[in-house]
Amino acid sequence: MATFKPKFIKPDTDDAINESAGIEEPQSSTFVFNAHHNLGLSEQRERLPIRKYRDQILYCLEQHQVVILVGETGSGKSTQVPQYLYEWGWHSKGTIGITEPRRVATVTLANRVAQERGELVGDTVGYAVRFQERISPETRIKYLTEGILLRELLADPLLTQYSVIIVDEAHERNMLTDMLLGLLKKILRKRSQLKLIISSATIDASFFSEFFSWPGAGEVSVKLSIEGRMHAVQHFYLNEPCADYVRETVATIWKLHHKEPPGDILAFLTGQEEVLEALDLIKEYIASEECTTLKALPMYGSMSSQDQLAVFFTPAKGVRKVVLATNIAETSITIPGIVYVIDCGYAKVKWFNPATCSDSLMIVPVSKASAIQRAGRAGRVRPGKVYRLYTKQDYEGLAPRQPPELRRSELSGAVLQLKALGIGNILRFDFPSPPPAKNLLSALETLYALDALDEQGQLTKPVGFLLAELPFTAMLSKMLHVSGKLGCAEEIITIIAMLQVQSIFSRPVSAAAQQSGRIAHRHFEVAEGDLITLLNIYTAFVEEGMTKEFCGQYYLIYRNLKRACELREQLINLARKKYGIPIFSCKGDVELLCKCITAGFFTQVAYLHHSGVYRQISSGTELAIHPNSTLYTLPQAQYVVYGELLQTTKLFMNHVTVIKKEWLTELAPHYYHQTTVRD
Ligand code: ADP
Ligand code: MG
Repeated sequence: MATFKPKFIKPDTDDAINESAGIEEPQSSTFVFNAHHNLGLSEQRERLPIRKYRDQILYCLEQHQVVILVGETGSGKSTQVPQYLYEWGWHSKGTIGITEPRRVATVTLANRVAQERGELVGDTVGYAVRFQERISPETRIKYLTEGILLRELLADPLLTQYSVIIVDEAHERNMLTDMLLGLLKKILRKRSQLKLIISSATIDASFFSEFFSWPGAGEVSVKLSIEGRMHAVQHFYLNEPCADYVRETVATIWKLHHKEPPGDILAFLTGQEEVLEALDLIKEYIASEECTTLKALPMYGSMSSQDQLAVFFTPAKGVRKVVLATNIAETSITIPGIVYVIDCGYAKVKWFNPATCSDSLMIVPVSKASAIQRAGRAGRVRPGKVYRLYTKQDYEGLAPRQPPELRRSELSGAVLQLKALGIGNILRFDFPSPPPAKNLLSALETLYALDALDEQGQLTKPVGFLLAELPFTAMLSKMLHVSGKLGCAEEIITIIAMLQVQSIFSRPVSAAAQQSGRIAHRHFEVAEGDLITLLNIYTAFVEEGMTKEFCGQYYLIYRNLKRACELREQLINLARKKYGIPIFSCKGDVELLCKCITAGFFTQVAYLHHSGVYRQISSGTELAIHPNSTLYTLPQAQYVVYGELLQTTKLFMNHVTVIKKEWLTELAPHYYHQTTVRD
């Protein structure tokens, strides 16, 4: 495979700020805290809060088609309920399926449950996630991601192999959860023997029972709450809004530490960068006062499990622990010992931007439901206190809950899947919370532009069906399809694999190391942009023997690069064997690669306006190159395509590639007419 040598080395600059806006992904965390790890497995099972509800759950499931199970994280919903159903014999009527939003949790849960049953995973208990499964004819308890169940629906529209489906972590209301709930509602009405358990970690579950009711069916659903011990929490607010919640968080921690009796502190911030910034600040306080009674620890999804472990330990006597965490600590994990919570009042979320017809990441005020959930974290051990870094009035004005992902996201993937499942009129589909019609229409337009839908809104053959089946976004799938034709699938698959994993760039905390990191990354950077840079890194990593030393030297994250390599192998096989895509290398023809990238991203183009800023070609919206992009410090190219948008201080483009204007009319003539492409 050819290496794409940099066309020129970028000049040294130190104005590139470190402003990664990656959304928190708890899926990288495999760590599960277990307070009873020194007991035998069966005794551990007996001690879980859910144990007392076993018979009630089984009874309710006999009586109702849908059971809504509410219980706090760690009570035993995900690991125990499937086993109760199995022990009661539900498996004799069909497989017990449990859907999870994240692949790592899916695998971990299956392993744990197999272990509790004294078996190997893949026998009675199995799992299926994207690109990987451990299932045998004996499997009766099957953990699978929501995406996999949606795919199974293509072959088995009534899910006849299942007796019970458990939709786990339903409170997250992510896009696939909602799509599944909509489809399951249809199936339940057709298959009265099928049962559904909706498992949620937040109290507010009335929504689900309302959705699962239909005329003439009596009481379809029932709600069951697993009692967790909950103590009173006192609320404190600011009198005036604060200007900088990171600094305010740190100041609050410091004050609290000096005034309040013992008890650990949990502070919520919106992302990894803020967590690290606050950690630095608090460490400065600690160092300057030579304080030995406060221990500060970070907690975010992309930390190694080993590092995450630290937050679960009880600090030494006389020492107070303060955990600076992202949203991961809101429901995904429970940290013991917390008595004080500090809530910055914001969260980072993906949001559909109608101006650009795509999603961008934004920091927005939390919902009331989130604020309550965060506060609740303080009352698990004994009465606690929550410090909200906003005014009481601001709290009153918060939205009751965050709109579900489906109502605030780009929908082309969802529409594609529903079309493949035979849902002809998407606008009339019974979504748990219907998305705005304009978002749906925008998705239909994008899919039409990508040649996946025809003028009647039907999936096209072969492109539409291929795009619906491939496990990536519609644009990346289109890119892969075109790469087979252009003879560069080998490189495009590498790029796609690199885009599927979390960032491979290590961005250290200290300013000096940040600078060295930036210089090291420059080694791979090319004028064509970020995707070719990723290809370069992959190539160099493989040529240098895929070592940890290489990653250390160049400030790259070994774990993520390794994962990209594994993924790449699987994708090559999948593309060749399943989809018949010819796998050829373009042998260093960078222009061909950039063209192929354009064939996927042609709806996401920006041009350089004469005023010196980029504008999106279709809407005229101003866009800026993200400081983390290779192109940030290079002379501005006339036309670029981007892979994603991030909203922080400005609307930033990320994963940017330089293109030529004439490619647009050549590759997407139906979308671009010569006259509409601006100069
Ligand atoms: P829930 O789904 O209600 O959050 P789980 O069923 O996942 O709860 O977990 C219940 C308990 O089982 C946890 O509190 C933990 O003690 C234990 N547990 C679950 N998974 C693991 C694991 N992989 N390793 C060790 N302990 C685990
Ligand atoms: Mg769970």
